[in-house]
Amino acid sequence: MDIKITKTTAPRQKPDPNNIPFGTFFSDHMFLMDYAKGKGWYDPRIVPYGPLSLEPSIMALHYAQEAFEGLKAYRTADGHIQLFRPTENIARMARSCEKLCIPEVPADMYLEAIKALVEVDKDWVPSAPDTSLYIRPLVFATDPQLGVHASHTYIFCIMTCPVGSYYPEGINPVRIAIEGREVRAVRGGTGFAKCGGNYAASLHASELAGEKGFSQVLWLDGVEQRYIEEVGSMNVMFKIGGKIVTPSLASGSVLPGITRKSAVQLLTEWGYEVQERNIAIDELIAAAEDGTLEEAWGTGTAAVVSPIGEIFYHDKDYTINAGQIGPVTRKLYDTITGIQWGKTADPYGWIVPVV
Ligand SMILES: *Cc1c(COP(=O)(O)O)cnc(C)c1O
Repeated sequence: MDIKITKTTAPRQKPDPNNIPFGTFFSDHMFLMDYAKGKGWYDPRIVPYGPLSLEPSIMALHYAQEAFEGLKAYRTADGHIQLFRPTENIARMARSCEKLCIPEVPADMYLEAIKALVEVDKDWVPSAPDTSLYIRPLVFATDPQLGVHASHTYIFCIMTCPVGSYYPEGINPVRIAIEGREVRAVRGGTGFAKCGGNYAASLHASELAGEKGFSQVLWLDGVEQRYIEEVGSMNVMFKIGGKIVTPSLASGSVLPGITRKSAVQLLTEWGYEVQERNIAIDELIAAAEDGTLEEAWGTGTAAVVSPIGEIFYHDKDYTINAGQIGPVTRKLYDTITGIQWGKTADPYGWIVPVV
C-alpha cells in the first residue's frame, strides 16, 4: 500500500505526561482511506489531525452504520514502541463490519496503516510509567442519503491520543450495580460487534447508576435478564470456590475482548480451571453470600483489569474480598502490563514492534 503522508505545519499542544485526561488530546496526524462500491478502498493517506467535511445526511449519523476498535502503542524502557495483539483487533473489526454490512478493511493494509501512523507520531507515545498511545480506528458509512440500506461509500479513519496511567492513585476496586431493567445487547443483535450503537444503548442505565454513586453497571442478558454478560464496557470474570468463571461468548451478545482472551489463556496456563459458561445472577449472589466469591474483575484495553470491590443487587450491598484487589486480579494486571510495556518476556507472540 502506498500511503501518502502530508505532515502538519502546526504541531499540536502535547498534554502534561503526568496528567493526561483520557481521549481529549489528539496527536498531530490521522490516517484516512476512502471506499466506494466497485472501486474498493482507495487513497490511503496520513494527514494533519483535524475536522472532516461531511454532509449531515451521511448514513452513519442516522442509522449508526459504524464500527470501531481500541488498542494501544506502548513505549518500552529502551525507547522502542510496540503494539499488543493488533491482529486480534483487526480480525474483530472484520467481524463487526460483516454484521453491519460494512466492507472489510484488508488486514495487511490495516496493520500497515496503524504502524505508519504510530511511526509518524512516535513523539506522541509518552514514556512516563503506565502511559501509552491509545489508537482508535473507525469505519463509517458516508452515503449522503436518507434511505435505509447499506451505504456504498465509507471512510476508514485512525486517530491516536496519548493516555495517562489508568490508576494514578493505585488500583482501587469499584462499586457496581446490577442492572435489572435495561439491557445492552440481545441474542442475535450487535452485542459481539464493537459499534457505537451498543454504546448509545448503554448510556441511559450507566448515567442513572452513576448518579447513585456506582462506577459501572453489570449487564444481564437481554432475553431472560438472568445471566451475567459484561460490566460497563468491560468483560467480567469471577473467582468462585477456586475456579475462574466468565460469561460464554456463545450468545453473541458479549463483546469478545482481547484482554479477556489473554486472561483466559494466562489463567489456564497458571493451572486454574477456567469455565466459559452462563452465570446466573442468583449463582453469583449465592456465592457472595456463602463466601465462595473470592474475586471479581473487569477486563478491557483501557484499564487492563479493574477489580470489583462491591456489587449492589436488590437493595443489598455485597463486598468482595473485603473491598481489596485480590491476588489473581493483581497477578493478571502485572503479567499483562508487564508484557505490554516490555518489562516481562512475551512467550506468546502477542507483541508487534513498530519502531
Ligand atoms: C472493547 C470492549 C471490551 C473489551 O475489549 P478489549 O479487547 O479487551 O479491549 C469489552 N466490552 C465491550 C462492550 C467493549 O466495547
